[in-house]
Order: sequence, then C-alpha cells, then structure tokens
Amino acid sequence: MSLENQKQLINQLIESGILKSKSAIKAFNSVKREDFVRPEYREHAYENIPLPMFEMSTISQPLTVAAMTEALDVKKDQKILEIGTGSGYQAAILSILVGPKGKVITIEINEEVYEFGKGNLKDYPNVKTILSDGSLGYAKEAQYDRIVITASASAVPKELIEQLAVGGIMMIPVNDKMFRIIKIGKNKIRKEFMGYYAFVPLREK
Ligand code: SAH
Repeated sequence: MSLENQKQLINQLIESGILKSKSAIKAFNSVKREDFVRPEYREHAYENIPLPMFEMSTISQPLTVAAMTEALDVKKDQKILEIGTGSGYQAAILSILVGPKGKVITIEINEEVYEFGKGNLKDYPNVKTILSDGSLGYAKEAQYDRIVITASASAVPKELIEQLAVGGIMMIPVNDKMFRIIKIGKNKIRKEFMGYYAFVPLREK
C-alpha cells in the first residue's frame, strides 16, 4: 500500500514537471518518506504536503525537495553541505545522488531535531550529521560542490559563497524566494530566481 502511495506521489511530481532527471527519480524511489516523518503522520507521508516534526521544524514538502534537488544538479562523488537537517529526508536523497564515494554534511541547530534526523539517517553512511548553528556554513570541511539551505535566510551570507567551490551550485531561500547561485569565478556569482516556496525561518546570528 505505501509503495503504491509513494509511486503516486512520484508520478505527481513528474507530471508537474518538477521531477525530471533519471537520477533524481531513482533517488526519490529509493528513499521512503514514511521513514522520515513522525509516527503519527506516517499515513500522510506520501501526500505532497510539508508535515510537522517539532516546533520550528517541518519535513519539507516533496515538491520543494524535488525542485531543490533538480536545480542542484548533483553528480556522483560530490561533497555537499546541507544547512537544516530536519527529518534527514533531503539529506537521504542527496546521499543516493552522490553515491558511496560522495559525502553529505548536514547541520542542524535544534538538538531534539538533530537526534531525530540523525536516527533517520543511520543507514546512510556517507552522511555526516552535525549539531551546530549552520547559518554561516561549516568552514572546516569546505569547499563544497553543492550547498543547500533548507530554511529561509534574510540574505545570502558571504561565508557560504566562500565555502562553495568554483563551478559549484548553491540553493538558498531568501525571504521565501528560492535562488540558485552558481559560482562562476573566485569572486563571481550568477544568481537565478527559481520561484516562491514556503520554508521555516533560518536562525541567524
Ligand atoms: N531538510 C529538512 C527540512 C527541515 S526544516 C528535511 O528534509 O526535513 C529546516 C530546519 O532548519 C529545521 O529543522 C531548523 O531547526 C533548522 N535550522 C534553522 N536554523 C538553522 C541554523 N542556523 N543552523 C542549522 N539548522 C537550522
């Protein structure tokens, strides 16, 4: 039954034109969203809606995860930084896309949420979870091929641009407007507006 529901959700994302690449479709098929929601919401896991987890933390809407994932254009073996682990669902999708030789580093600021996400990600050995404020990224492991911020910031922090490799792509919501930033040179970026999406606010310093 749940497999059927998952298929329906994925078909809906494909029909809406958001989910389209072979690799992303494969990743969405291999990660069960029901394993990343709170038990009481399991029956709603394959509806195209965000679900509550804890105060100030939701598992993102599948549509949002699909849009961000496609725009990130992830390749095998890449190193990715995610800010806002939440349930771990987005990190799990990225984990499949980078493959066993790739790496996903994901930061969560809220301890209760961190423990939940970390537990959900236990079967994804290429994902490293960190309990910390990620609003200025994670310089220790920089640079990153991809950076994704899953909470809405008030501006694009220059630290994140610095931690992005040349040729790298960053997805960042700024006041709920989703932007794709491509680092085309050491001090040069291209910024593209990708549409409006709802996010929880990023806690900033
Ligand atoms: N990627 C998640 C979405 C989680 S919602 C998923 O797939 O489920 C965004 C998360 O960002 C929340 O859990 C919130 O606690 C976290 N967050 C907010 N500000 C943060 C910050 N400064 N550093 C790290 N995490 C932060």
